[in-house]
Amino acid sequence: MGPLRHRAARRQHRGRDDRGARRIGRTCRRRSPVTRPATADHRTPLVPGVLDEHQPAQGSAAGWPLVLYFHHVHPDVRHYTALTPTSFAAGLEAVLARFTPLDPRSFGREAVPRPEEPSVLITFDDGYRDNHDIARAILRDVGVRAVFFACTGLLGQRSAHAREDYMSLTECDALVDDGHVVAAHTRTHPHLDRIDPGRVQDEALGSIEDIARRYGPAAARLFAYPYGGIPERIDLPDGTLAFGSVRSPATPWTDHPQSIRRTYLPSGHQLLWPDLIDRWHRDWKLDDGAEGSR
Ligand SMILES: [Zn+2]
Repeated sequence: MGPLRHRAARRQHRGRDDRGARRIGRTCRRRSPVTRPATADHRTPLVPGVLDEHQPAQGSAAGWPLVLYFHHVHPDVRHYTALTPTSFAAGLEAVLARFTPLDPRSFGREAVPRPEEPSVLITFDDGYRDNHDIARAILRDVGVRAVFFACTGLLGQRSAHAREDYMSLTECDALVDDGHVVAAHTRTHPHLDRIDPGRVQDEALGSIEDIARRYGPAAARLFAYPYGGIPERIDLPDGTLAFGSVRSPATPWTDHPQSIRRTYLPSGHQLLWPDLIDRWHRDWKLDDGAEGSR
């Protein structure tokens, strides 16, 4: 463990102590010599300032692909998943040292992929222009093919503000030509869990139909919920693999193919990434005995 890792570990433990003290409150002396069991939770790298429900520490269910989501790769966008080009390249390199990248084009209509080795699927949400202008070249350098979940009703909308600047269809085509998959993320990015059921269907199915028309049925098999908000009632086509966020529990894709967990490399907390990636790797291996004792 190098010096950066030690610092990250110390910060992590301070974070836990502070949280523990808050949770315990006045009923327990702060310095009481509690011996914690070495549970997964104890070793979870907590990201300061992030709500529990948005913590990225949990990876995938054992043996199922780690799925990471990004929004922007841009020098100066501030968002919890927006990375600079340098940090995105570094994050990819660190993840790929432990996980084999999955090619999303291999997701046929029949089989749900369950890889033999720790594997990662890289995804982007919303279809921002920097995905094409900046992330594309970095992905090409490392030979990774990704899924770009695009809001089909927003494609082509341009703005001087990166958060409102979307790819054109031609730019999406260029990503597909590189071997990436462009998939559906609704038409206009509503909170699907807060709108009426009729509009849920229009937004979700409409975007899936838009993708199917341009990129065919394999691409249209993949869908991501805006904000990770999964509505109580949604009727996606049979065989759809639908991706949530860190709000979705880590379960086998075969059990819950329409609420697949994704997690992320938190922006501004790069020192925590090695511990996060270690944790995700342990999650993957948990049931094969090799690294199962933790
Ligand atoms: Zn989104």
